[in-house]
Amino acid sequence: MRRVQEVKKQTKLPTLIAKADKVTSLYIRQKYADHAGMVKCVSCPTVLHWKEAHCAHWIGRAAKATRWMEENLAVACPSCNVFRKELHQREFTLFQLDRYGREGIEEIKAESRKVLSASQVRQLAEEAINNFKEAPCNQ
Ligand SMILES: [Zn+2]
Repeated sequence: MRRVQEVKKQTKLPTLIAKADKVTSLYIRQKYADHAGMVKCVSCPTVLHWKEAHCAHWIGRAAKATRWMEENLAVACPSCNVFRKELHQREFTLFQLDRYGREGIEEIKAESRKVLSASQVRQLAEEAINNFKEAPCNQ
């Protein structure tokens, strides 16, 4: 009888990345929310409910090494994150400077420049899913 090989089905990488993005975004937006669920935009005075806010990346999502790095993420209003990119980038950088200092943000930048293999990206995505799945409001 032919042996049927059991192949452990691996989640496709784009699916895994999408899941990591979703879980990370939920975590970050809830992390900064106050008791009423309100968050303040990193770049402007807007206060909004976390469900309407975006999880903003200081260094863009194209850099996989920092895509799910908590230190690279903050909450922004959709207007800043989508339509006021220049102001948003400037204000976000100031926020990062206050939060981590010059050395800290240089470390994030150095991390973002790492070129990762597909299996390294997979590992980071899996770690993000594990680390961020227990968002405060999901408990
Ligand atoms: Zn804003």
